[in-house]
Amino acid sequence: MMNTQIFSALAQKENGTNLGGRVIRSGGLVAFPTETVYGLGANGLDGEAVSRIFEAKGRPSDNPLILHVAKKSDVKPLWRHVPEAARRLMDAFWPGPLTLIFLKSDIVPDEVTAGLPTVAVRMPEHKTALALIRAAGVPIAAPSANLSGRPSPTTAEHVIADMDGRIDMIIDGGPCRVGVESTVLTLVGRPTILRPGGITREMLEPVIGPVEISPAVLNPLAEGETAASPGMKYRHYAPDAQVIVAEGSPRRAASLICREYETAEAEGKRCVILATEQTRGCYRDKRCDIIGDRDMPSTLCVGLFAALRRYSGEVDVIFAEGVPTSEQGLAYMNRLLRASSFNVIRC
Ligand code: AMP
Ligand code: MG
Repeated sequence: MMNTQIFSALAQKENGTNLGGRVIRSGGLVAFPTETVYGLGANGLDGEAVSRIFEAKGRPSDNPLILHVAKKSDVKPLWRHVPEAARRLMDAFWPGPLTLIFLKSDIVPDEVTAGLPTVAVRMPEHKTALALIRAAGVPIAAPSANLSGRPSPTTAEHVIADMDGRIDMIIDGGPCRVGVESTVLTLVGRPTILRPGGITREMLEPVIGPVEISPAVLNPLAEGETAASPGMKYRHYAPDAQVIVAEGSPRRAASLICREYETAEAEGKRCVILATEQTRGCYRDKRCDIIGDRDMPSTLCVGLFAALRRYSGEVDVIFAEGVPTSEQGLAYMNRLLRASSFNVIRC
């Protein structure tokens, strides 16, 4: 066990990020807030420091990490060159929840890329994250700051629950604004979304033209299939409860959930429903949690991981409604389907 120092970004602003920067430079691990989820950072140019991230998380070593930078020009030394499409996307969306993948330069250690010839880079839109990266003076390699397989942390309390005693420091910056991890877009070959997030296909296409969506986003990988993004192949976001997704129109999905809820309850199972503003009236006497508004899918993303953590071990079954996969609905369904291990019921 290590002694994990916890700093408040609000109360101890500069102290926290300055100390954090020193910890990173000396090879240590610091969890920090971003606009998406909390990250677990190490010096992205130091292979040994990066391998500590995998140890602390219990992360499979073939799952590459994202390098976090504090300004657009910091990507130059990390890539072989900066393609025109990347320039346009950085101008449009950085800082922000968009990770770009391109061919890596020699200074990026294999531990970061899991041996791949490409590297993922992003500039977060969060004061504390940017201050920490500047204080460290190096790109920060960071996956989400959860134990591998658990839902990503969107508050410092989630990070403490998973990482206390395993890392050097946690910077508390309050809850994350977006709530799901960044959009991951590869620019090698045709631009393709490997993981959907806050920056949507609808937002990307006006800037660079057609964008494809990897089939792995909404489907389980077939046995023996290789993932374009290695992270897609692992069971992800799994709470300690069964998750069941009901697809169909809002009303049909709701009535299906009601039926299944009653059956499960009769079997003595504890249940909860992740409902939406539009369907709250359908579940009158049942335990439910309004996760967001169907007409604003970004609101669904914000609270999903916190809800999965809240009910983990507390209930036996979590029911959730499927939503359309336009805009941030795609990111929501990608996380929800993985949390359910693709356990979907339909009318
Ligand atoms: P996390 O660090 O938990 O946010 O996960 C990072 C995601 O980005 C994972 O799904 C990785 O598989 C993906 N990723 C990172 N680097 C690459 C890369 N070079 N090629 C493809 N996917 C990548
Ligand atoms: Mg993760």
